[in-house]
Amino acid sequence: MIPESHPRYRSLVTREQMAEAARSGVVALEGLTAHGRGEAFDYLLGEKTSASAAEAERVAAALLKTARHPVISVNGNTAALCAQAIADLQKASGAIVEVNLFHRTEERVAAITRILEDAGCQVLNGPVERFISLDHDRGLCHVNGMAAADLILVPLEDGDRAEALVSMGKKVIAIDLNPLSRTAKTATLPIIDEVTRAVPAITSAFKTMNQEEAEKLTKNPDGKRYLQDAIMTIRSRLDDLLD
Ligand code: ATP
Ligand code: MG
Repeated sequence: MIPESHPRYRSLVTREQMAEAARSGVVALEGLTAHGRGEAFDYLLGEKTSASAAEAERVAAALLKTARHPVISVNGNTAALCAQAIADLQKASGAIVEVNLFHRTEERVAAITRILEDAGCQVLNGPVERFISLDHDRGLCHVNGMAAADLILVPLEDGDRAEALVSMGKKVIAIDLNPLSRTAKTATLPIIDEVTRAVPAITSAFKTMNQEEAEKLTKNPDGKRYLQDAIMTIRSRLDDLLD
């Protein structure tokens, strides 16, 4: 039992939740190490949403609002951390939710689909094909899902797939705490924030935004600036510690 008075209570509870999700096969063991890398960057970023990330979250809402065929790609970590928030974003935006896994087995797809459906998501089911040219299973997708998408929101993505999607002419929004990752560098719009903070922020921005503002915000998303802002945040926090 983790005492609520523990200074890292929230982080420890999340770890327990991730460990449980790994035991039930929703999260891959490799997903636990990815989570640890995210935690390290969140520590450096101050474990809060920066003004720059909040702005990126508004732009993400605008991209979702103006997209023709938006898809939210969900993996095990995202389902374990924020299935309810994904359901809320789907309800607000009408985006398609599709499960996409690096370590893909039918059992894991079914377990993740169940968690999402229990939270109220409508998950795209049915056969998948290798529509994305990758020699691992993240290349497998649905003909009416990512294959047809013009915009894909990919929380906790791997760099390979972000690159492949962008080279197919699709817009990619990545949520990734690591501003140095290939994913964040490749995405059309990198959101350098923790997924459980980022997804609800996108939903609430979506609900308060009209079409006119959405079109204005999507003119020229400057992905590089969000990376630079995050690196500056880390640098100034480290500078303060050295004072
Ligand atoms: P690449 O350079 O190819 O993008 P990577 O270092 O990003 O690789 P991944 O396997 O994609 O490696 O790792 C997952 C990424 O997700 C990490 O960069 C990590 O910072 C990020 N991450 C992990 N947990 C969270 C979280 N809860 N919220 C946001 N980002 C997270
Ligand atoms: Mg990555």
